[in-house]
Amino acid sequence: MMFVSFLIISTIVALLLFVYIKIKAYVMIGVMLFLYLISVFAIIRGGCTDPGIIPRKEFTIGIDTFRTKRDFNLISNGALVGVTYCPTCNIYRPPRASHCSVCDNCCLRFDHHCIWLGTCVGKRNYKYFYLLVTSLNINLIIAFIYDLYIIIESAKDKEEKKIQFRVLTITILSGVSFVDLMVFIFFLGRLQVLHNKLVLQNYTFYEDFKKKLKNPWKIHPFYKNVWQHIYRLLLEFTPKSLLNANYKKDPNKKNREIIVSQKFTFE
Ligand SMILES: [Zn+2]
Ligand SMILES: [Zn+2]
Repeated sequence: MMFVSFLIISTIVALLLFVYIKIKAYVMIGVMLFLYLISVFAIIRGGCTDPGIIPRKEFTIGIDTFRTKRDFNLISNGALVGVTYCPTCNIYRPPRASHCSVCDNCCLRFDHHCIWLGTCVGKRNYKYFYLLVTSLNINLIIAFIYDLYIIIESAKDKEEKKIQFRVLTITILSGVSFVDLMVFIFFLGRLQVLHNKLVLQNYTFYEDFKKKLKNPWKIHPFYKNVWQHIYRLLLEFTPKSLLNANYKKDPNKKNREIIVSQKFTFE
């Protein structure tokens, strides 16, 4: 799906560039290419970075055959946070982690499984997902305003010999602008508003969706302050992957061993 996202974005940008080159709108070409490259970077980094997979622990016959693991609670900010056992991965999920049914792995600070990136969005790649949505939205808004301006200007132009080019320009730009507007209103714009809210409040999409935290908007177990939430999203270094080389090489997912002791944080 990473390739499909790349293809859709590239097609729209190529159509616009075709018109912008014809009308010699060099500043727009620069802006469009710059934002396009940011989106491509975000797709590649977001799709190829380990989202925060927690390695599985091998089952030990006799100890792990029957479910003996009990879920328990921890306290953070005065609120109870559940630590649950994952019977598929044979680990205790740290707070905010969840099991993704598509990838069949537990993922740290699980946000959602993104079909456009073809992977989970979690603790290690959320910033690239956010960068992708933001760069696409900025691109959509700038292109839409500029395209409207060109359509209005072209419609005013009465010069006879330019008529064919004018029709072509107006047709392409109207089509792309309409698609832009629909995508923005029904998908990307909404996504941006939702994730801006989630970032400011330090909630994942999954937590927001499930409303599984007690008093979600009052006692927030992971709340620090707005600046720290923004800092963590934009400037914090990506934490080290928990996957070791053996894990990545093992195609049968048999010899997955947890390489860290299970320390629970509230990040
Ligand atoms: Zn799991
Ligand atoms: Zn997933």
